[in-house]
Amino acid sequence: MASVYLHIPFCEHKCIYCDFYSIAPNDMPLEHRALVDRFLAALDREIDLRSSDKRFAQRIETIFFGGGTPSLLQPAEIAAILEKLHLSFDVDPAAEITLETNPGTVERAKLGDFRAVGINRLSIGIQSFHNDDLRFLSRIHTAEEAKACVKSAFDVGFENVSLDLIFALPAQSPDRWRANLQQAVALNPTHISCYSLIVEHNTPLARLVQAKQITPLSVEEDAALYELTMEFLSSRGYEQYEISNFAKPGFKSRHNSNYWNHADYLGFGPSAHSFWKEHDTPYAARRWWNIAHVVGYAERLQRGRLPQADEERLTQEQLREEEIFLGLRSEGIDVAGFRKKYRRDLLQEYGTYVAELIRQNLAILDGNRLRLTSRGYLLCDEICLAFR
Ligand code: SF4
Repeated sequence: MASVYLHIPFCEHKCIYCDFYSIAPNDMPLEHRALVDRFLAALDREIDLRSSDKRFAQRIETIFFGGGTPSLLQPAEIAAILEKLHLSFDVDPAAEITLETNPGTVERAKLGDFRAVGINRLSIGIQSFHNDDLRFLSRIHTAEEAKACVKSAFDVGFENVSLDLIFALPAQSPDRWRANLQQAVALNPTHISCYSLIVEHNTPLARLVQAKQITPLSVEEDAALYELTMEFLSSRGYEQYEISNFAKPGFKSRHNSNYWNHADYLGFGPSAHSFWKEHDTPYAARRWWNIAHVVGYAERLQRGRLPQADEERLTQEQLREEEIFLGLRSEGIDVAGFRKKYRRDLLQEYGTYVAELIRQNLAILDGNRLRLTSRGYLLCDEICLAFR
């Protein structure tokens, strides 16, 4: 089983904290429509080139439209991409197909059209239900539009709707963050992702911090809000299955779980990453990524060349380290499977350390699965380092 990720590199406006590759109309080197058409033609070509390589002939179990703001595309454009994928790959008829959606770019009818062309999961970028937070983050929508978007999604027939929220905004109090969580849960989404605000280099947010115009929360304050998140959502029936992700029973993101389980995936579009195991060499894999420039991406494909920027080959040792890291931050490591695959017994090698983690209620051994508790998630980075 494998996954496909499509990076749609357009946004209506750049948010101050964002370092994903995307461009807004003000920064476009071409007229907007011409650039979108060029990108779509290039994407079609990239799918042709990759799918003609028989090494990638695996059933596709999940498709994810990310970005950028894929909901800026028209439903007919999404339909054409999906049709292309169905013609080019063996797509599972029950595939999970997610569209990242920003309130302010869709109205009810457009959401209905996305549903009709085959999208069966929405991931809606809410970030906050406080309008002053949204202005600070330079989001294009209001809290009222965000709520209306979620309600419309359910009204038009989506059954699987995820909300993205950001916490640890400057000066954010626990009460203010709890109010966000309460409003999110009141909308009854099937899945909630909560990310701490990260000050990424070369963003307007980083410049505000450097100029001392804003002060990020301390590590302790950030951790307190994270603890509050875990307690609040678990008490409302959302199971935490990864550091930042919470789902109602039966609604874990299959796409993201594939990433964390080291499943193969192909990424299309500028800046998209891919990961594919080498099926003729046991326990080796390749990761590659596309150039992060939409015009350069389109030009390469026009010349019939893949738009790959670079790649790395992952050795068995690197894969083993990644598997520990990915397992601990999500649903745990299957220690028996790990032993079989890598001929390393984690419970023997790290027995004293694992016993101490369990004693301190930072981890549990659930059958064959070593997994972190909520307290363990708080210290995940440090715990992962100890397993190197
Ligand atoms: S909408 Fe998303 S991808 Fe676009 S700038 Fe904002 S955070 Fe980045």
